[in-house]
Amino acid sequence: MSMKRIVVIGGGAAGLASAFALKRAVDAGKELDWILLEKDNRLGGKIQTVYEDDFIVDGGPDCYLSEKPWMAQMAARVGISEQLLGSNDARKKTYIYASRKLHELPDGVMMMVPTRFLPFATTSLFSWPAKLRMGMELFVPRKSDGADETLASFVRRRLGRECLDRLAEPMVGGVHASDPEQMSLRATFPRFLEMEQKYGSLIRAFIAARGKMPPPPPPKPGAIPRTYFMTFQKGMQQITDAMADAAGREKLLTGKQVSCIEERPTQPHFRVHATDGTTYEADAVIVSAEAYLAASFLRELDNKLADVLDSIPWTSAATVSLAYRAERLGHDLHGFGFLVPGVEKCRLMAATFSSTKWLGRAPAGHALIRAFVGGPHNQALAELEDDEMIRTVRDELREIMGVEAEPEKAWVFRWLRGMPQYTLGHLERLEFIDRRIEDHPGLFLCGNSYRGIGTGDCMNSGEQAVTKALQLLFGE
Ligand SMILES: Cc1cc2nc3c(=O)[nH]c(=O)nc-3n(C[C@H](O)[C@H](O)[C@H](O)COP(=O)(O)OP(=O)(O)OC[C@H]3O[C@@H](n4cnc5c(N)ncnc54)[C@H](O)[C@@H]3O)c2cc1C
Repeated sequence: MSMKRIVVIGGGAAGLASAFALKRAVDAGKELDWILLEKDNRLGGKIQTVYEDDFIVDGGPDCYLSEKPWMAQMAARVGISEQLLGSNDARKKTYIYASRKLHELPDGVMMMVPTRFLPFATTSLFSWPAKLRMGMELFVPRKSDGADETLASFVRRRLGRECLDRLAEPMVGGVHASDPEQMSLRATFPRFLEMEQKYGSLIRAFIAARGKMPPPPPPKPGAIPRTYFMTFQKGMQQITDAMADAAGREKLLTGKQVSCIEERPTQPHFRVHATDGTTYEADAVIVSAEAYLAASFLRELDNKLADVLDSIPWTSAATVSLAYRAERLGHDLHGFGFLVPGVEKCRLMAATFSSTKWLGRAPAGHALIRAFVGGPHNQALAELEDDEMIRTVRDELREIMGVEAEPEKAWVFRWLRGMPQYTLGHLERLEFIDRRIEDHPGLFLCGNSYRGIGTGDCMNSGEQAVTKALQLLFGE
């Protein structure tokens, strides 16, 4: 069999996972030549960590959810399991800003569902009518028409309006920088639907799930304790750096922007063109670029496919990390941070107390706060000039938590059209894309535009694309 060639487009979490899977296939004896093309001058995509004066600053994701297996698996494969870092749960508290005050999130709230009576009954976050309404969730009938609905309609129906405004929107919508009034429940949180169908109530479902959880095994000596959110000692880029090393950096070309993919009747089936005039022949192409960018270089190949890829909406966000001298801050940062519901009409979506949540993010005597700006209702904020963005964040931190101190350093990361939105109709769009792509055997799509935005989900999608490509090319 002649040597097969695969081109991977995009070097974020998904593309690097593809690259590393291809390297493993070669090591296992596959007659395969591959290359990865990344338009930026760095690898990692949305995963980006800056190291400066002993601060470790994550500009994009700052953690992953440990209940999903892929990140820990990847860490083990690239040999950095001992670098996993759990959150500093001794200081675990989350606050929600409501009616101009920070309220501690009551114990026992899982996602957006209260599962413990006492903390819920005594919290100042909700009014009494709202607490009663949320308790009524136990008796709200299942929806039976099977149609998709928005996250907002689901939460209003089951738990009431105040739960949507004060809990679900900031906690659940915030993860996607999304407006719950637009989000497809089926595409983003199918688990809630399953819970409703199986248990007739989310409260019952979460309590049952908690009851079924096996007691945590006694920690092995020296093992890293598993927390709900986890990261790496040197920030999230530690994993993409290790993946790039493991895949072999000589095959990861940066500063290479793909402009067009040509499909041909003869073998090899594809020719990938870059803007610098270079071309790459390929039997299969794995596209991990953002759907709207993929649309631009796939338009000549399939106009209709490009239209649908382009119709997936995105929102913009920015993160601003501010470093302070701890003694000047005037705040103990006891907690992981706070969330700001959209109804509060603030210019922050959330802030993380990074130096509390993760040990080692700031040098001794310093504190690090990371603010999240932008999101569905504040798109323009993500485009502010650095100075103005920093001023905006400082104004909000003063208002919300009384921080007057001048930061010693600030880092701004903009993610314009950086967050894909799985709005109503997303699943139909995916179905169309899946059908249409079958007309182009050898073309595969992966990454956060489709079936999961979490960094681990993206890695998993990159590996799955390689599995499919190898099946096609080697018939296994
Ligand atoms: C601010 C922020 C906070 C987040 N927080 C979290 C979090 O805490 N936990 C979590 O799990 N997830 C989080 N996410 C989501 C997660 O970071 C992303 O979904 C994930 O990293 C995306 O990986 P990807 O490989 O699909 O895409 P990307 O990282 O976007 O990679 C796509 C790559 O394709 C390249 N590309 C595009 N067009 C071309 C072209 N024409 N030619 C060549 N290359 C091209 C791009 O330059 C890019 O590098 C966050 C995202 C953001 C923006």
